[in-house]
Amino acid sequence: NVDKNVLLYLEGISVSFDGFKAINDLNLYINDGELRCIIGPNGAGKTTMMDIITGKTRPDTGAAWFGQTINLLDMDEPAIAQAGIGRKFQKPTVFEFLTVFENLELAMAGDRAVLKILGARINGEQRDRLDEVLELIGLKELPHMRAGSLSHGQKQWLEIGMLLMQQPRLLLVDEPVAGMTHQEMDRTAELLTSLAGKHSVVVVEHDMDFVRSLAGKDRTVTVLHQGSVLAEGRMEQVQNNRKVVEVYLGE
Ligand code: ADP
Repeated sequence: NVDKNVLLYLEGISVSFDGFKAINDLNLYINDGELRCIIGPNGAGKTTMMDIITGKTRPDTGAAWFGQTINLLDMDEPAIAQAGIGRKFQKPTVFEFLTVFENLELAMAGDRAVLKILGARINGEQRDRLDEVLELIGLKELPHMRAGSLSHGQKQWLEIGMLLMQQPRLLLVDEPVAGMTHQEMDRTAELLTSLAGKHSVVVVEHDMDFVRSLAGKDRTVTVLHQGSVLAEGRMEQVQNNRKVVEVYLGE
């Protein structure tokens, strides 16, 4: 009985490590096309939550659905990626010795990488998508730059671009602006907001200024604490919530 607009549905999820409940009866609903920021102090369970969504960690109890029909708990990591969930880890993992263009080309080949090595070319439609992604990530002028020569921010954007080549329906992004300059942060906020609508985007982030700029006035922010949702709502409500203030002051 899932709302049609819900793309990611987690209900009653719990997981323990050696008797310690890292996730404790977590409920999370992400709408199709939504950009959601998830914040929470260290140890709140943010990484574990992402691991559950991507199939890296199996919960002890609960339900996890993607769209109306895809039961995430029945699937392994590759199958979940294939179903349209892309994850960007904090550290960029681009191929430094390849160019920007080649990185995107490889990302598109996906598990057909072997074909690519054997000389298969991307077709016209794929080339259009690659150009679109280059534009989106702000690297249109630098397709032949070696990825190793890019700035930290540009590497992060390239990696987001690599995920986009697979046309995911849901993108999970882990602390994208760690180590970025202010200018790069602004550009990243623009990039992530421009993805919303076409994709659902879940951003786990520590930097409150960045969360504020991403969430704006209207988007929902979720605060995790001790493995469950402590508060949820607009940034303005959430940051004035007494429980949230206490948790952050205690950090
Ligand atoms: P966050 O990403 O919000 O900092 P985590 O999801 O990394 O939080 O961790 C939540 C809690 O679960 C922490 O107390 C952490 O120590 C614990 N934890 C996470 N993964 C494991 C694991 N594989 N084994 C034991 N404890 C873990």
